Amino acid sequence: MNLRTGQGIDFHRLENGLKLWLGGILIPSEKGCLAYSDGDVLLHAICDAMLGAAGLGDIGYHFPDNSPEFKGIDSKILLKRTYQLIREKGFSIVNIDSSVCLEKPRIAPYIPEMKSVISGILETAPEDLSVKATTAEKLGFIGREEGIVAIAVVLLKQ
Ligand SMILES: [Zn+2]
Repeated sequence: MNLRTGQGIDFHRLENGLKLWLGGILIPSEKGCLAYSDGDVLLHAICDAMLGAAGLGDIGYHFPDNSPEFKGIDSKILLKRTYQLIREKGFSIVNIDSSVCLEKPRIAPYIPEMKSVISGILETAPEDLSVKATTAEKLGFIGREEGIVAIAVVLLKQ
C-alpha cells in the first residue's frame, strides 16, 4: 500500500458585512472572508492538502481565481471535485487533521456540523476527520480580527 501525506494552508482577509463560510457551513459573524470563491479557508486548506499528497499541484492550478466558473463558488463543490481528482488517481483518505485559527466568533459549537458536511463529501468516517479551533491570543493580524487561517494535514492511501 502506498501511503502519502500532504499539508495545506490558506489565509483570507476578514471584512465587515461579508458571510463567514467555514467547513462548508455558514456561521453567524459580523465579519466574513474576502475571496473570489465563498472564502471557506478550511475547505481550501483541506483541498490543498489532498492535492499535495496526491502530487496534483494546488488549488489555484485546478480552480483559478480569474475564471468566471469559480466566482463566488461554493467551496463544497471544489472539495468534491478535488476528491474526484484523487479518486481518479486511485487514492482514498486515511485521515485528515485540521485547525482553524481566528479570534472570533467561537466556532467550537459548529465543529460537529462541519465534520458531518466534510465527511459526507469525502466519504470518511467522522473519527477519521479532525477539525480543531484556536485563537491567536489577540496577537497579530488574526488577533486584530483582520484575517483567518486554516491548516490541514491529510494521509492518503493508494
Ligand atoms: Zn482560500
